[in-house]
Amino acid sequence: MTIDDLATGAGAPATVPYGHPPLPAAERELLLTSVREVGTDPEQKFILGRRTAELERALRERTGVADVIACASGTGALTLSLRALRVGPGDEVIVPAFGAEPLAACVLGTGAKPVFADVHPETGVIDPVDAESRVSERTRAIIAAHVFSTMADMPAIIELAVRHRLEVIEDAAVAQGATLRGRPAGAWGDLGLYSFYPVKPFGMVGEGAVVLSDEAEPARAVRMLRNHGQDGRQRFVHHEIGFNSRFDEIQAAFQLGRLPALDGLLDRRRTVVDYYDERFAPLREHGLLAPRPGADGRCLYVYAVHTADRDALARHLAAHGIGTRVYYPKPLPRSAAFAGVPTTPPTASWPGAELACARHLALPLHPHLTRAQMRGVADAVCAFFE
Ligand SMILES: *Cc1c(COP(=O)(O)O)cnc(C)c1O
Repeated sequence: MTIDDLATGAGAPATVPYGHPPLPAAERELLLTSVREVGTDPEQKFILGRRTAELERALRERTGVADVIACASGTGALTLSLRALRVGPGDEVIVPAFGAEPLAACVLGTGAKPVFADVHPETGVIDPVDAESRVSERTRAIIAAHVFSTMADMPAIIELAVRHRLEVIEDAAVAQGATLRGRPAGAWGDLGLYSFYPVKPFGMVGEGAVVLSDEAEPARAVRMLRNHGQDGRQRFVHHEIGFNSRFDEIQAAFQLGRLPALDGLLDRRRTVVDYYDERFAPLREHGLLAPRPGADGRCLYVYAVHTADRDALARHLAAHGIGTRVYYPKPLPRSAAFAGVPTTPPTASWPGAELACARHLALPLHPHLTRAQMRGVADAVCAFFE
C-alpha cells in the first residue's frame, strides 16, 4: 500500500478510525514545494524570517488583533504569555481542573502555583463562579481554555478579571476559527494563543503556535522572550532571560500556502458538526448529551458527547469499526504529575471535572470525513440508545 492508497481509502476496510487520514495530496505537494522554496532561497534564512513575519501579518489581518507572535508550540505560547505578564514565584494562577496538561505545568514552570477551578460538567470549560471563589490576594491571572466544542464564557471571565484586577490568558489552542459574539477566539484575553500542532484546526506538519495580543507591552515581551531576550535588531544582546521558542520558515511557507484554504477546512468540519448535532439532539432524553447546537461560541475541534454509559458506548462503537477517544481520564489535580501541588482549599474538589472525565467520549471529526462515514458514526450511536 502506498501513501496515495491510504489517502484515498482504497483497499481500506469500511471503518471510521478516530484520527486524521494521511495528508491530502495537495498538502503533501505544498509541503514539498515549501521545503524546496525555503531550501533554494538565496536568503538561506530558516528561522524567524520573512515568511514567519508574513504569517504573523496575515493572522493579524484575519483576527483584527494588534499583534501576533509566532513561537515554537502552544506550550511555549502559554509559558511566554505567563512570563510576559511577569507571573512568577509567590503568584497564583487559576486554571481549569479539566484539560490539557500544559495548562498547569506551564504555571509551575514559572515558579507560580496553579489553583484548579471546576468546570461545567457538560462542556468542560471553566466555571466563572467557581473560579471567582478561588481568587486570593496572591492571584495574578486566570487561564481560560476553550474545550472540544465550546468556547469558555469569556465575557464572564473578563468581568471577574476586571473585578479582581487579574490578567486573562485565553488558551485558544484548539479554537482557531471559532467566534463568540462576533469576536474571534484568541482575541478576548489580554493574551491569546493558537496551536498548530498537527491535530488542531489549523494544525501543520510540525510544532508551532502563535500568541495574540492587543496590548503593546506583553506583546513586546513575548517577542523578546521567544528568542532568548533579544530585541530582533541587535544580536547577542540579551535584555532578559528568555527561551528558544522560535518559528521555522518551512512551516511558515506551508501555513501561508494553505491559509486561503483554512475557511474551507473549517466549513467541512462545520458540515460534520451540524450533521451530528441534528442526529443526536433527539437522544438527549435517552441520556446522550451532545454539544448544544448553534454557531456562537462553537469550536470545531473535537466532537465529544457525554453519557453515563460512556465505556459501553465506546465498546459498541468499536464493535462497529468506529474509533473514539477519551482525552482526559482524570481531573488535572488528580493526575500523578501534579500530586505535589497543594490544592486551594486543601479539601478542594472538582465535581464538574470528575463528571466530564467520566462521561466524555470523542467521535471522529476531521475535514476529510466522508458522508458515508458521518452517517455510519451517527447510525451506530443512535442504535446504542434506541
Ligand atoms: C494542544 C493544547 C496545548 C498545547 O499545544 P502544543 O502546541 O501541543 O504545545 C495547550 N492547551 C490546550 C488546550 C491544548 O489543547
